[in-house]
Amino acid sequence: MSSRTPLMAGNWKMNLNHLEAIAHVQKLAFALADKDYEAVEVAVLPPFTDIRSVQTLVDGDKLKIKYGAQDISAHDSGAFTGEISGPMLAKLKCAYVAIGHSERRQYHGEDEAVCNAKVKAAFKHGITPILCVGEGLDVRKAGNQVAHTLAQVDGALEGVPAEQAETIVIAYEPVWAIGTGEVATPEDAQEVCGAIRGRLAELYSQELADKVRIQYGGSVKSGNVAAIMAQPDVDGALIGGAALDADEFVKIVRFRD
Ligand code: PEP
Repeated sequence: MSSRTPLMAGNWKMNLNHLEAIAHVQKLAFALADKDYEAVEVAVLPPFTDIRSVQTLVDGDKLKIKYGAQDISAHDSGAFTGEISGPMLAKLKCAYVAIGHSERRQYHGEDEAVCNAKVKAAFKHGITPILCVGEGLDVRKAGNQVAHTLAQVDGALEGVPAEQAETIVIAYEPVWAIGTGEVATPEDAQEVCGAIRGRLAELYSQELADKVRIQYGGSVKSGNVAAIMAQPDVDGALIGGAALDADEFVKIVRFRD
């Protein structure tokens, strides 16, 4: 049994305004306000406009729910209209930031160099990156999912020192499974998550690789999460659609119940 604490993170994408966000987090807090979920870390990644409201609620009520952002600028400040910087997210006490989500890669052209710069920006400001990697359907059909995903890991970690890399979270999210209802089999998830851990051992050390949490993401629901979490190299889930339904998200978090 691994000593890694599972991380269940809800990626709200561009959903829920700040008032809806407060109501949603209150529901989560109420449903998780007992000891049972202490062995699982819970985080929400709301849109930027909600983060201050979530922070006020979480800090004010001393909730154990963590929160973070869905993206970060590679730059600290300056003429980058529309972007949000690491110092701004750090000021809001964001614990996590998703980097390289497939929707950022697809719609905003984020490549390995951009992801690498964003990973470094997050670490610079004390925010833990949730690095999203994973193959599209064509790559999967060609059987190249492992090589493709490991190349994304290599690119994003270029020049990242071990003392930072050991705290990163990596989310394996096959693009064909995101928002499609088409979940990877537990064996598919294990194949690539295991390969990612192997690559971390090659890049750094086995000791470091054993510390890093690797999530699976892609149509995770309460009905499929337990089988995925039973895999030895899966340490949590990044949850999109199902995280918008507080009751369903709580069921996912309580996958051991
Ligand atoms: C995601 O957006 O990271 C995701 C995994 O979405 P979904 O759970 O809806 O597939």
